[in-house]
Amino acid sequence: YAGKSSNQLLGDYVRKLTVKEHKSVPVVCQEETSVYDAICTMFLEDVGTLFVVRNGGILTGVVSRKDLLKSTMGGQDLAQTPIGVIMTRMPNIVTCQLEDTLLEAATRLIYNQVDALPVVKESASGKGVEVVGRITKTTVTKVFVELGEDTPV
Ligand code: ADP
Repeated sequence: YAGKSSNQLLGDYVRKLTVKEHKSVPVVCQEETSVYDAICTMFLEDVGTLFVVRNGGILTGVVSRKDLLKSTMGGQDLAQTPIGVIMTRMPNIVTCQLEDTLLEAATRLIYNQVDALPVVKESASGKGVEVVGRITKTTVTKVFVELGEDTPV
């Protein structure tokens, strides 16, 4: 162990964790999806953030729980309002990539004050990025719990 303290070893271990190893499956919908259907999807899929895609996977936006809550306060017909009008749009989406470390992704979650990051890669067509996964505060909390249960040093 080359005389490293257990704190240093723990830090080394944490810095080696990757987005690729820890990502979960993204839940996606389309801009045309209604606010009503988006709320149903959130409950059925048990997620707090939906990624919005077009053309079979190109990222165009993100919808959070509060985005949906807010849109229910205006009194519009939820079945007629598309999430395209309430979502946060590209290029304002904070993302991460498969090769990023989990620490980089977690730093981005905290710094940008969001709950989830889409994991993206350059699309084959070159027109935007494709969604291939999801990193959330829960992803990071799970790793924290694992570290506490089974210290790697
Ligand atoms: P909530 O709004 O339910 O607390 P968030 O804190 O994740 O959930 O979202 C806050 C705002 O940031 C919302 O308007 C949402 O659309 C937007 N948002 C969520 N995730 C991202 C992201 N990865 N990049 C950019 N904006 C995001």
